[in-house]
Amino acid sequence: MREIPFNRPFLVGTELDYVREAAEDGGLESDGPFTARCEAWLADTTGAERALLAHSGTGALEAAMMLAGLGPGDEAIMPSFAYPTMATAVIRQGATPVFADVDPRTLNLDPAEVRKAVGPRTKAIVAVHYGGVGCEMDELLAIAAPAGITVIEDAAHCLLATYRDRPLGTLGDLGTFSFHHTKNVTSGEGGALLVNNPELLERAEVVWEKGTDRKRFERGEVDRYTWVDIGSSFAASELTAAFLWGQLEAAEEITRRRLEIWGAYHEAFAELEAEGLAQRPVVPEGHAHNGHLYYLILPTAPARDAFIAAMRSAGVATSFHYVPLHSSPAGRRFGRSIGDLAQTEQLSRRLVRLPLWTGLDRESVDRVIDAARSAASHVAGSRA
Ligand SMILES: *Cc1c(COP(=O)(O)O)cnc(C)c1O
Repeated sequence: MREIPFNRPFLVGTELDYVREAAEDGGLESDGPFTARCEAWLADTTGAERALLAHSGTGALEAAMMLAGLGPGDEAIMPSFAYPTMATAVIRQGATPVFADVDPRTLNLDPAEVRKAVGPRTKAIVAVHYGGVGCEMDELLAIAAPAGITVIEDAAHCLLATYRDRPLGTLGDLGTFSFHHTKNVTSGEGGALLVNNPELLERAEVVWEKGTDRKRFERGEVDRYTWVDIGSSFAASELTAAFLWGQLEAAEEITRRRLEIWGAYHEAFAELEAEGLAQRPVVPEGHAHNGHLYYLILPTAPARDAFIAAMRSAGVATSFHYVPLHSSPAGRRFGRSIGDLAQTEQLSRRLVRLPLWTGLDRESVDRVIDAARSAASHVAGSRA
């Protein structure tokens, strides 16, 4: 029996035609017709003021930290249960990541912990929406607004997901997407920055153009372009944009298929949850996710590790997720923590992700379900 892989990128079928079209068109750098199409699609679909296509989600986060004006002495509050590049984007500005604990229901930043972390140096709150399920944004925005704190959403998982009918990535001042090959919609590597705060629009264009006012020059607003501010090379190439366009055109269909798989898992594992063998993800009222990932929380860390081994024996690849940032070597060196981050410590060791990718067929989904049921029971049995 062939192993069911944990992830496999999905090809819509149009991508290579678009890449050929871009190549034959001759303009391979950024800002060609495919970049314009992708940026317009992202802005129209989300309602963001402006979308800028990036070479990676990490690049978009780095641009966001520049735009937030982070510098030495400033702090950015973020979850410890997260991908490291949010933290590296902060330390590259000379600022300090402050790690806060998560809400055990969603593994998203706990607003109560954020409130404890806010101080006179707090310049930004970085909200990661884990698995396309939004943070409690109304509460986070209520903490940030009176203190003039910039809110950045790491919406890497979140294309087409919403919070109280508002698209994730558009609730903070800035939002970032990733189109890495593990994400719902992909160009191999890729990302985007959503600029929601109109005050940041002009500077975002400059930061994007290596610190120059080239975009104003192209619009004929200045008669030559020059170096005016901090910036870097954040744009994606037209080849990447062309590939991505094929994926974006199919984004609704991709999401629909992923939600179907997510739903099948969720229904099948209700029984495991009722028996106390595993907890399922919680999607609070008012949140609409996009089927980005499916996970189970096992009763203990050893049970999780045994579950992963049992799944492997049954021919199903599964994966743990984030190793906490606060206790990692770089986290200890560059950051500081709020409290003991007990939920992050606990849950990161008990969480396991199941295969969820767009081309996963029903037969494979059923195999995963059967394997997970017997693995969870077996693990529980060997504990007793
Ligand atoms: C994938 C991911 C990133 C990084 O995106 P890249 O496109 O790989 O640079 C950042 N944050 C989260 C939450 C991610 O899942």
